[in-house]
Amino acid sequence: MGLHRCRRACVRWCSDCCRPIRGLSDRSGALDCRVDKVDCVVIGAGVVGLAVARALALQGREVMVLEALDAIGTGTSSRNSEVIHAGIYYATGSLKARLCVQGKQLLYAYCAERGIAHRRCGKLIVATSKAQVAQLSAIIDQARANGVHDLQRLTRGQARALEPQLECMAALHSPGTGIVDSHALMLALQGDLEHAGGMVALNSPLASAKYTQDAITLIACDDTELRATTVVNAAGLRAPALASKFAGLDARHVPPSYYAKGSYFTLSGRSPFGRLIYPVPETAGLGVHLTIDLGGQAKFGPDVQWVDSPDDLVVDPARGDAFYAEVRKYWPGLPDGALIPGYAGIRPKIAPAHAAARDFLIQGPAEHGVPGLVNLFGIESPGLTSALAIGEYVVRLLSK
Ligand SMILES: Cc1cc2nc3c(=O)[nH]c(=O)nc-3n(C[C@H](O)[C@H](O)[C@H](O)COP(=O)(O)OP(=O)(O)OC[C@H]3O[C@@H](n4cnc5c(N)ncnc54)[C@H](O)[C@@H]3O)c2cc1C
Repeated sequence: MGLHRCRRACVRWCSDCCRPIRGLSDRSGALDCRVDKVDCVVIGAGVVGLAVARALALQGREVMVLEALDAIGTGTSSRNSEVIHAGIYYATGSLKARLCVQGKQLLYAYCAERGIAHRRCGKLIVATSKAQVAQLSAIIDQARANGVHDLQRLTRGQARALEPQLECMAALHSPGTGIVDSHALMLALQGDLEHAGGMVALNSPLASAKYTQDAITLIACDDTELRATTVVNAAGLRAPALASKFAGLDARHVPPSYYAKGSYFTLSGRSPFGRLIYPVPETAGLGVHLTIDLGGQAKFGPDVQWVDSPDDLVVDPARGDAFYAEVRKYWPGLPDGALIPGYAGIRPKIAPAHAAARDFLIQGPAEHGVPGLVNLFGIESPGLTSALAIGEYVVRLLSK
């Protein structure tokens, strides 16, 4: 059987044959193990899938999350910087800009309400060359256009008053940037989902789907079938590959997948900075920046390395060599040998290296023509920040 219940969820039993139920209750609420039918299925229990599932469940919908692995949030959602982004850089009007700014506000409020560990620590965007100093005004303008009005321009002296070990020519201070415990966030989302009657089915990899007249039939890797009226594909790095197995979905609506790996190196010893330190951004990522976690551990990264596989997650210690030069541009005090290989995450790209970064691609029935289906493609950074806003966006998309 492919659709296993999460141990945390209540096991339900068939009223006819007293076997544990793999299907769900029918619309009348009667339990029947022959009815493998559910209102909404979300594929993938990363932060985005869980946020979407929570949002649907809070609308009163019956929701089941299918997760391929044996725990929630072990994909990209646990391999990132855990930064609550302000929404500074993204193209104005893009989904990334809108959902990040809205998601940041929702996330701070949700963390406060649910006691999720987080800190509004702020970040400095540092210019270490004249060319970068010239870029700071454009960054402020871009942020304002996105609705981020709290950036402050700092001279070298002002920046060093905040962070004495910092070297730069000028900087921007973003007081609205913060950090969050992403695992605590995902557990809270799962808790809300379950409290609203939804559930997460672990060890339940979906293989394919087909669209029939009144439902979408989902087929698990062991051929178990489940019918749903609404399906949200939040499979992260594997969302395009999975969508290409949906019979009835025109292949023109499935983007190609590219993988941009980002490796982190942790700093042995105490963090020299109390705020996040970011260089003026590069192309595919935000540059080798310094982030701190809620325990005060500092790490540098992620860098950008285009790879062929979504499973290529080993950190090559040799990549650390290039970090020293990058980091010393803003922290000359970085001691030799202080960087230790940490972990890597892979950005779910839908545009190749050297092409312009693409926006989040969230397609509902109006875009692809399949009733009840939403595909989430290219949910790279700021996906963690945006998760709650993406949940609300998907609910709106489905109610149209
Ligand atoms: C290096 C890096 C740094 C980042 N830093 C930040 C940051 O600081 N701030 C920020 O806002 N964002 C950041 N992001 C982006 C953020 O991490 C992602 O946008 C977010 O985690 C995506 O969540 P997700 O739920 O879409 O995907 P995932 O977390 O990958 O979840 C997808 C889930 O789907 C499951 N799945 C896949 N296929 C199937 C299947 N066939 N059947 C069932 N389940 C399946 C997977 O097992 C997985 O659990 C970063 C990303 C990277 C790579």
